[in-house]
Amino acid sequence: MSWHFNQWRRNHILRHEAIPEVIWRKLMHLPCLKSLSLEDVRRLHELVLLFLHIKVINGAHDLEITDEMRVTIAIQACILILNLDLEYYDNWIEIIVYPDKFILDYDYEDDIGVVHHAHSIVSGEAWHNGPVILSWRDIAHSAAAPSTHARNVIIHEFAHTLDMLHEGANGCPPLHVNMSALAWRDVFSQHYTIFCQQVGSGQETVIDPYAAESPAEFFAVLSEVFFDTPLILQQHFSAIYEQLALFYRQDPARR
Ligand SMILES: [Zn+2]
Repeated sequence: MSWHFNQWRRNHILRHEAIPEVIWRKLMHLPCLKSLSLEDVRRLHELVLLFLHIKVINGAHDLEITDEMRVTIAIQACILILNLDLEYYDNWIEIIVYPDKFILDYDYEDDIGVVHHAHSIVSGEAWHNGPVILSWRDIAHSAAAPSTHARNVIIHEFAHTLDMLHEGANGCPPLHVNMSALAWRDVFSQHYTIFCQQVGSGQETVIDPYAAESPAEFFAVLSEVFFDTPLILQQHFSAIYEQLALFYRQDPARR
């Protein structure tokens, strides 16, 4: 638990704050929460309460943020860190929710100092020191219409925040001591190369072709698949499934 969450404060929050039961029950049907054990659900509930206490969720363009929206975001952000720690999200405080896709317009400098201009319409964006930005329409859409290429913008953006904790957005989050950086790099780069070739030659792919954009997007999209449709990932990318299971310390395909 984060340093600022001493036991007293933690217990105080857990005792005095609540999530409406009807909302919690409804959200338990989300694909990424399928078949969690009772103990996992109890820990997830605590994590969501603490998350909602320290994070600020603001609506953009006059979007009103309801309790259900807050819990929908928090619960899916917290499934990623269920067996990690809330500290993994210490770098940022604010989540901004747009009613729909939004425009990103900024200049950035690349590794060799060349300045580029980015202008794109996106459904989510995450920055190392915050905020995390999400499109509510995309969140609602992915929950309503799960399919093979279904996107989970919440899991996607929060996976980016974990990735960025180690040497920027490069598709490699901070690995645990029982993991091998070499194994991670080999497995991800091999599969990424093959995947980019498939997308480049117009082949049908099992996961969203957007994953070919960069190693960072590959990691974020595979994290979505890991939590939402773990059996597909295990079947088609078993070595990646194993690495993600080690990193997230979860085995969703077995649940
Ligand atoms: Zn992304």
